[in-house]
Formats: sequence, C-alpha cells, structure tokens
Amino acid sequence: MSDKKEFFPFDDEDQCKDLAELLFPYVTESPEECIARFPERNLPEGAKVTRFAPSPTGFLHFGGLFPATVGERLAHQSEGVFILRIEDTDSKREVEGAAENLINTLNYYGIHFDEGATATGETGKYGPYRQSQRGPIYHVFAKKLVKEGKAYPCFTTEEELTALNAVDKKEEIKSKDWHTDPNAVKEQQLDRRRFTLDDVKKSLKNGERFVIRIRSDGDASVKKPFTDLIKGNLEIPENDEDFVLLKSDGIPTYHFAHAVDDRLMGTTHVIRGEEWLPSLSKHIQLFRYLGFKLPKYMHIAQIMKLENGAKKKLSKRDMGANMNDYKKMGYTPECVMEYVMTLLNSNYEEWHAQNTEKKYTDFPFSIKKMSTSGCLFDFAKLDDVSKNVLSKYSAQKIYELVTEWAREFDPGFAELLTKDKNYAVSIFAIGRGGKKPRKDFGALGQVKAYMGFFYDELFEITEELDVKYDRSDIKRILTDFSEIYDENDDQNTWFDKIKMLGERMGYSSDMKAYKATPENFKGNVADVSSFIRLAVTGRLNSPDMYEVMKILGKEKVVRRLKAFALQI
Ligand code: GLU
Repeated sequence: MSDKKEFFPFDDEDQCKDLAELLFPYVTESPEECIARFPERNLPEGAKVTRFAPSPTGFLHFGGLFPATVGERLAHQSEGVFILRIEDTDSKREVEGAAENLINTLNYYGIHFDEGATATGETGKYGPYRQSQRGPIYHVFAKKLVKEGKAYPCFTTEEELTALNAVDKKEEIKSKDWHTDPNAVKEQQLDRRRFTLDDVKKSLKNGERFVIRIRSDGDASVKKPFTDLIKGNLEIPENDEDFVLLKSDGIPTYHFAHAVDDRLMGTTHVIRGEEWLPSLSKHIQLFRYLGFKLPKYMHIAQIMKLENGAKKKLSKRDMGANMNDYKKMGYTPECVMEYVMTLLNSNYEEWHAQNTEKKYTDFPFSIKKMSTSGCLFDFAKLDDVSKNVLSKYSAQKIYELVTEWAREFDPGFAELLTKDKNYAVSIFAIGRGGKKPRKDFGALGQVKAYMGFFYDELFEITEELDVKYDRSDIKRILTDFSEIYDENDDQNTWFDKIKMLGERMGYSSDMKAYKATPENFKGNVADVSSFIRLAVTGRLNSPDMYEVMKILGKEKVVRRLKAFALQI
C-alpha cells in the first residue's frame, strides 16, 4: 500500500463549494427545494410503495413479469402505490418502441400501475417517470455530494474514453474490471483524488469531459449485517470503490438514479433481481451520503430451468421467455398469472384448490413464502396449471378465446371456427361443466391439434394400428359399422353394436373373460373401438367416441369409416 494521500481538500467547505459551482453552475435548485416538490405520500399505515423499473431494451420477459407481479401484489394488497418507472438511461441499449410494448404487455397481463409511464405519456405527481427526463434532478444531488466533499469529478482521458466505448459505456470506467489487484485499484483511486481546483478549471477550459465519482469511505473488510426481506440476514461488506454517479454525458448510473428516484418517489420496498445484490453496498453508502432513509429491499432469486437434469438460469433466449411468445402459443393471461402465482408463493396452489371461485388477487400474498434460492420454470407445470384454468371455462368462453387467438395467429383456423359457431361450441362442450372436466389443452395454440379432426379440412389419419391386427378384420368391422351406425341410438345401443361386431370376428366383449384366457380371442372390444376411433378421428386417443360421432353427424362418420376401410 502506498503512502500517497488524496490532495483536494475535501474537508474544506469553501473549496468544495467552489468545486460544485465550477462543475454545476447551472444547478440552482437546492436539494431541499427539490425534495419539497415530492411531498410525503398520505397513505394508510403499512401501505407499501413499490415500483417496477424496466430498462426498455426489448420485450417483457417471464423474468420481468415476476418482480412486476410481486410489486403489484404488495402495493395493492396494502392499499399502497405501484409505480412504473422506465429506466432509459442507456440510449445505446434502448430499443425503439420497447417502453410502449412493455406497458401494453403488462396491461395485457392485468398488471396495472397507479402512477408512472403510460403508453402515451405519464400519470402521477412524482414524475417524470422516465429517467431520461429526470436529468436536472440528478444534477441537484450530484452537486450536493460534491459540495459536501462526498463526490468529485474525474476527467476522462482519451485513452479511457476509448476503453469506455469498448465496454459500451455501461458503467463507465469500471476500475475493478480493469485491475484485479485491489491495491492497484486503491492506488488508482487515490490518484484520482489528487487534483486542485486549478486542475479542474484547466480541464474544463480544455473542454475535457468528466464523470462524477463517489468518494468512498468504506472498507471492504468490514462487513455489516443487513436484512433482505427475501434473502434474510446477510453480511454486506462496505463499499470501497469510488464508483461513478454521473457519466461523462451527465447521465446517472443505475446506482445513483436508484437512490435519487426511489427516495423522491417514496418507494418503501425495492423489489428487484438478485443480480443487484452485489451492488447493495454501494446503495447503502449512497443513501447514507445523501441523507436518505434506506428503503426495504427484496432481492428476487433468478428463475431456474432444468437442462439435462441440472438447474440452470432461465435466460432471455430461452424458448418462451418472451411474453409475446406466450401469447403466440396461446397461454392466456389468466393461465400465465396463475402459474406465476404458483411459482411465487409455495402455498398458492393449495389455497386456490380450496378457493376455486376466488381470483389470485384475493390470495394473501406473502413475502415469507417466496423462494430464496430460485424457483424452477417448467413448461409441463405451466401446461398443467393452464389446463386446470381452461377446463373451468364454459364452452362459449373457450370458443371466444380460441377464435380471438386464431384470428391473430391462425386465420385459417379462425375461419373454420366461425363458419359454424354452434358446431364449434358443441365440440368445446364435450366433457365440460361437470365436477371433473376434461383437461385437453393448456394453451389456445394446442386446440387445433385437439379438435381439428372435427373439420374435414384438417382431418388426417395421424396414427397407425398395430400390425398384429388382421387387416381384413378391421375392414370388415368398419364396413359393417358404417352400415348399422344410427345417430339416434342411445349410448348403450351404440356400444352393443360395436361389441356385437367384434364378437362376430373373435374379439371378446367381456373383459373378464378376455383377461382370463386372452389366447382364446383375437383381441377385445377396446381394440375394436380403437379401429373405429382411428377411422373417425384419425387418432387413437380422443374424447368420448359416442359424443364425437353425434357432433360429427352421420354423413361424416360413415364417409370416414368407409374411406378407412378402403385404404387399410
Ligand atoms: N432497470 C433495472 C433492471 O432492469 C431495475 C432494477 C430495479 O428494479 O431497481 O434491472
């Protein structure tokens, strides 16, 4: 460690004041005046103020819907306020139209904000809610820190600027990325603090650009206890890095904007991904420097997925991670939110099984029931949850949902469905409405595969009968059945006919007898039914055949039986 010392007199009030004036001559508002513009909120006791703060770099992802839902639930469950703040300080990474897309998508999933950015502007008294429009506010507090000797300018050399461009200016000169040797970092840090007012004046005159760095007083070997509402009791080392507050274009880093915005917006609970945990020491320090009360923090664990038996982080590139993909696949907002809740609170599923008529917003959401280590995303589980949700809808509602979805994603299918609405609704009515409804599809995109065979345009034989069945038996049974099928038969008569045709060809209709001596038969009535099923639906699995045939109508049934008898 060197015996170098910083030499700007950070403890000389006048010099610090002069430095602040040199750097921010245009800032005339005092921090107190600024704070007064955002008065304390008048909320009931225990009300939480939360915010969702996406960067508009693309579409909303499953990993974004997660914290958004937590924020929404905690705010609205406590009669608090839920804010949408757009963190658009990184213009290079910004994608045009992304903010509007995010807003619309969140709205589609029923995540409503009380304040914040809207598709056409913004609403609320604590704005602006787009960080790119809050520039002057950040400068008020940057000036305050410089004035108090807690921050200082650092003029960037050409060399540094080039390096910056290489790292996409993300965090502006991340000293720790450049040097892995902590002593070298410390030396470099002290070097930065070695300047005089004259140096600053000269650099400004030369038009050099500068960043504002915090003058850190921390010691990384000192750990302080901290309680995160999700992660529990933690030990956080002090921050010892003079990290950047304002970048050379005057735009704040995430750290600085977070402290200023969450203070002025009155955020009580900061809900964000656990990837921010390593930066927490910076934020604790910054709130202290600014004289702000630290909000409560909730760091949500990364969502995981299973890949070849191992847990991996769900990445943005994963199939279906983008919420627009979910829409395309036909997972309705209600299904997705149901799944999100299942993942978020371990007792949600059980609660909903006991409170089937209630909405997820009636559920007492609890921070304590959240996973500390990362819940597992699983498409099969999403399907299960969704099947449950959709199975409770009426045939009419399913019809409407499917046609609306198909209009956007499968117009040909939409045309078929709307050509004869009653026909489609009667198909959806199969096995619906009872205590144990059928659960055939979890997404609207799966419906066509489930019921396409009802339409000649989509009908095709997609499976095969085992070679063990004598083809001439099959032909015979199908032809005979096509001759005796009567739409007006009740289910017993209908089934007796099938049994009788089978018996005639050596297929037992008595399952007990068959099981006792299978060698005495060619097969049983289930085999016979499968011949008919394949001929009529093209598959070996289908909803109740009796009902299916009634809906299809005699003409189609007979035509398909005969056609299959001919082709087999
Ligand atoms: N813009 C940050 C992100 O997208 C927000 C983190 C936070 O909520 O504070 O990760």
